[in-house]
Amino acid sequence: MRRRDLFLSPALLPLAAVAQAPLRVVASFSILADLVHELGGEQVSVTALVGPDADAHVYQPSPADVRRVASADLVVVNGLGFEGWLDRLVRASGYRGTVLVASAGITPRRLGREPDPHAWQDLRLAQQYVRTLAAGLAARLPGAHDPLAVRTEAYLGRLRELDESTRQRLASLPRAQRRVITSHDAFGYFGAAYGVDFLSPQGMSTDSEPSAATVSRLIRQIRQTQVRAVFVENISDPRLVERIAHEGGVRVGGRLYSDALSGPAGPAGTFLQLFAHNADAICTALGA
Ligand SMILES: [Zn+2]
Repeated sequence: MRRRDLFLSPALLPLAAVAQAPLRVVASFSILADLVHELGGEQVSVTALVGPDADAHVYQPSPADVRRVASADLVVVNGLGFEGWLDRLVRASGYRGTVLVASAGITPRRLGREPDPHAWQDLRLAQQYVRTLAAGLAARLPGAHDPLAVRTEAYLGRLRELDESTRQRLASLPRAQRRVITSHDAFGYFGAAYGVDFLSPQGMSTDSEPSAATVSRLIRQIRQTQVRAVFVENISDPRLVERIAHEGGVRVGGRLYSDALSGPAGPAGTFLQLFAHNADAICTALGA
């Protein structure tokens, strides 16, 4: 290297450092925050409003959340009615930037008129989330397109692999055996994609009380051995499902991670871990 090159190169450093200040992203809940982190890497700094093991359906934003949204460069949400509290929060914060809807373009399942928001539980739809998020990040990260594209492709590959292995594992079980009880109706997309029937005492949101008739029907279904596996969820009070399992005469098969990651030390610290854990717990309980 010539002396002149040595002289020139340090002068370029401050410019590079300024160009790479991370994009401040606020995600509505922990699963989206993880996806943004996987795609954006060090080019983003992302926080979740609803954190690990917490329930986004009934969340109540705090004054600290108002400040976080106010100083965000980008706000990312699930949509499909999942974050009923979000519009008021954004208005209160004065945030005027983009609210990126991760589920954009997805045709939702419906129960009656209500869209089912839990589309991330089907990994083919999760790939659509990833493409939407990657496009949204690319528009705000000039100069970072190459690393973003590389990380996006790598992550999509991991989602495809997990999708395929889950399909194969469940396909080895007779269809009639694949019946599972969970606390709330969060696994409709999983069920449709991988061929499992999920029954639950609560509806698609956790804000409703289960009916006594629904609870006794579930207990009856367990006793008639139409249901093989009963799971509690990380975001819900386990007592009702424990009672249903007890009265049906079966053991609770473990915990499913429905609408939130676990803490970083838990079994579902990332979305890939969450899905692999759920698929494994369900397959094991059903005898695959
Ligand atoms: Zn839910």
